[in-house]
Amino acid sequence: MGVCPSATMSLLRDNFTGALRPWARPEVLTCTPWGAPIIWDGTFDPDVAKQEATQQNLTIGLTVFAVGRYLEKYLERFLETAEQHFMAGQSVVYYVFTERPGAVPRVALGPGRRLRVELVVRERRWQDVSMARMRTLHAALGGRLGREAHFVFCMDVDQHFSSTFGPEALAESVAQLHSWHYHWPRWLLPFERDAHSAAAMARGEGDFYYHAAVFGGSVAALRDLTAHCARGLAWDRARGLEARWHDESHLNKFFWLHKPAKVLSPEFCWSPDLGRRAEIRRPRLLWAPKEYRLLRD
Ligand code: UDP
Ligand code: MN
Repeated sequence: MGVCPSATMSLLRDNFTGALRPWARPEVLTCTPWGAPIIWDGTFDPDVAKQEATQQNLTIGLTVFAVGRYLEKYLERFLETAEQHFMAGQSVVYYVFTERPGAVPRVALGPGRRLRVELVVRERRWQDVSMARMRTLHAALGGRLGREAHFVFCMDVDQHFSSTFGPEALAESVAQLHSWHYHWPRWLLPFERDAHSAAAMARGEGDFYYHAAVFGGSVAALRDLTAHCARGLAWDRARGLEARWHDESHLNKFFWLHKPAKVLSPEFCWSPDLGRRAEIRRPRLLWAPKEYRLLRD
């Protein structure tokens, strides 16, 4: 049975349990070796999680970068579907980071939901746009975003919500299992292997391969995470290095050193290209098809 031995401990540490019942999904791993829940559809009660969050009158931040052609291509659908599915009924503040504030689509927002646009400079290479997010997020979390939100999720824009993504996903720090890699043997996982990189992981290191398209946590935890990653990225750059998967490599190093308090199953960020799988019951976020030639030249 996939019962988390320290489920009770996690209940005490974490107020947004949504009445965890890891035994409801015996066919998948529902607990990490360090006792953090891995939440799959059916292992929590979304209504209980919702009540818990409402009682605490939380404000939840959602950050997203839409720079260059990613803005026209993805932002509107991302925001429209977030209005339907992301933390419905809670107070939410979107932070959209872009170099063209005037081009941000006007999406009708529900009550208690706000959208703020933050200006960023456009980096030339797409890898640099992606990597610069850590430094920018760190600054934002130290400013207004950090003052107005209790918990924050940071997401890629090239995806859309397809089902409930609610307070059951909240915790002090939250990592997303990568849908391509969740069932791969550890030695095959695409961690950074160059020992000179700040993101380096030795063979045998690494718990899971996490996807940088979704991570979250408290403001304090995310300040630490973004500081760590921004520092690692700057260290590598000063040495002429670039980790294999950019900011994601550094994120994986951070979560190896500082274990996440909650892990989201691949249902929370699923790649439709992988087709149907029995354990993927209800995908909550779907990757858009990769159209790199259109977006990245
Ligand atoms: N991004 C952007 N403009 C760019 C490159 C990246 O806005 O030119 C942002 C966007 O939010 C995107 C994220 O950075 O979702 C990560 O880049 P991408 O999704 O292309 O990386 P992948 O998911 O393919 O690793
Ligand atoms: Mn992406």
